[in-house]
Amino acid sequence: MSSLSLKHIYKVYNKDVLAVNDFSMEIKNNEFIVFVGPSGCGKSTTLRMIAGLEEITAGELRIDDVVVNDFEPKDRNIAMVFQNYALYPHMTVYENMAFSLRTQKMSNEQIYEKVTKAAEILGITEYLDRKPKQLSGGQRQRVALGRAIVRSPKVFLLDEPLSNLDAKLRTQMRMEISRLHETLQTTFIYVTHDQVEAMTMGTRIVVMKDGYIKQIDSPINLYKHPNNMFVASFIGTPQMNFFDCLINKQKQLVNLTLCSAQTISMDYKLINKVPLKYMDQSISVVFGIRPDDIRIKSNIYVKDDMWVPLKAIILQTEILGNETIVYGNLKLTNPDNKDSIIIFKTTPDVLLKRGYIVDIEISLEKFHLFDKETERVICN
Ligand code: ADP
Repeated sequence: MSSLSLKHIYKVYNKDVLAVNDFSMEIKNNEFIVFVGPSGCGKSTTLRMIAGLEEITAGELRIDDVVVNDFEPKDRNIAMVFQNYALYPHMTVYENMAFSLRTQKMSNEQIYEKVTKAAEILGITEYLDRKPKQLSGGQRQRVALGRAIVRSPKVFLLDEPLSNLDAKLRTQMRMEISRLHETLQTTFIYVTHDQVEAMTMGTRIVVMKDGYIKQIDSPINLYKHPNNMFVASFIGTPQMNFFDCLINKQKQLVNLTLCSAQTISMDYKLINKVPLKYMDQSISVVFGIRPDDIRIKSNIYVKDDMWVPLKAIILQTEILGNETIVYGNLKLTNPDNKDSIIIFKTTPDVLLKRGYIVDIEISLEKFHLFDKETERVICN
């Protein structure tokens, strides 16, 4: 159980690589924090600074209100689990898990108690006498977790622990790590580049890009209320559709023209928080809508003013079995235009051929508007 405070943390490598830029956040007891972002965005560096494996260039790191910037890793009461497991190949599973306790001069009885309890939690009791090479990838990762658990650390740090496992095992281990977090009631910080892993495991997610924090929020808020276009596109698959948009306000009605091709109209009150400077058609904005918030027009829906019509020319479909992903274009006469591609989903019984023009509807409750220059949200 532990809280962490990171205040204006920077990491500069070799005097000129700015890997982490003004990272600040407060982490409460027992949170499951996930750092997510594309490769090279500074996730591992931040984690390694918390672990004490990397010096902090500037800023302050506190664990339970004690500044630990200058503490050795062993004095921070933190355990780290790596992607490559880092097990000792010549030792049994039991000895791998006991190793750090032996260096603390703990008695054999105490070690036995801790190792067998951790093995039980992780379901690896029957493998305690085996060597790592006699284990599968998933079992090895459990041993690596066990080695961390026996130390009863205040904070667990996990650096892409599942990326060496196949897709099925990854899903299973994802659930096991979430359960482990519930069982241990300890603060977890987990690094991944996989947004699905982040969304399913984190109580709060830190989305990073180029060394900067782009947003810190709960999974559902990141999905529903992204602060900027990077977060909007990084979270969710297929990714959010973005269209160039001109807004024209006429009294209580606003018209939004997407990709200079098609116009939707709505009541001004739906976007009355958007500054008026965006509404005289002199500045274009970016209109964002997720594939899930678009549907093919159908007679079975009760008429609903919160869905407005558009048309799309079909380019391609991907039949996944449970659903079909549809690629279309809003420019009906110029379907090769890359900036007006629209992606949406439909049920598998709907068959769409390339070149068909379909009536679709988008939800006025779910769209987003972004400033084109800053890429920041102006309406969520
Ligand atoms: P991530 O974990 O998000 O993939 P990293 O934290 O590993 O990213 O790296 C962030 C940036 O710092 C990258 O540009 C990377 O090349 C750079 N970097 C990481 N480690 C070092 C190092 N030891 N020396 C110099 N640059 C490094």
